[in-house]
Amino acid sequence: MWERLWQLLFPDQCHGCGRFGTLLCRACVGQLVPYVDDIPVCGATNFTIAFVYAGVLRSAILAVKYARQRRLGSALGLLLAAQPWVSGDAVIVPIPGSSQRITQRGYDQAVVLAQAVATARHLPLSQQLVRIRQTTAQAQLNRNQRYQNVAGAFMWQGGNPPARIILIDDICTTGATIAAAIAAIHEAGPCAVHVVVLARGVK
Ligand SMILES: [Zn+2]
Repeated sequence: MWERLWQLLFPDQCHGCGRFGTLLCRACVGQLVPYVDDIPVCGATNFTIAFVYAGVLRSAILAVKYARQRRLGSALGLLLAAQPWVSGDAVIVPIPGSSQRITQRGYDQAVVLAQAVATARHLPLSQQLVRIRQTTAQAQLNRNQRYQNVAGAFMWQGGNPPARIILIDDICTTGATIAAAIAAIHEAGPCAVHVVVLARGVK
């Protein structure tokens, strides 16, 4: 009942065009540009980047990160799950964000994204990949600094990793964070890692 009342008071509106009844409408999703550029080298078995980081998608990702639009994050997760990548019988694993920013926001956007993907694809979610060291924000760093910044930042907790993992994140730049996450998983045991990322910028 509260959900209905909430919907009545604050109806969903498309982040892109303002249309009512959805957080991200079909027309706006249709405008997104599929990513077909190069893939970073990071030790992944397979790597999927769904869209170019631009336009409505860029502003939606930023709204999830900085404007507490958690439900929009779930909508982006469903969008990612609807893309034609093959998941098989893998376990969904988010790349955890830095805890300082998560505390400010109240949630980890990669976890929100991964939860929606796991639900939509009927796959288990694991949060055994954890951050063991806080890192400074990557945005202001150059390529080499990014690799140094995140090296050893992650650990796989609680035994061997599953045979197949789908590693989820919202954006990817140099791939340094993803490389550090995969290194941590492989340190715990052998497994195939398919990285599935929502967006990446193009040069
Ligand atoms: Zn729209």
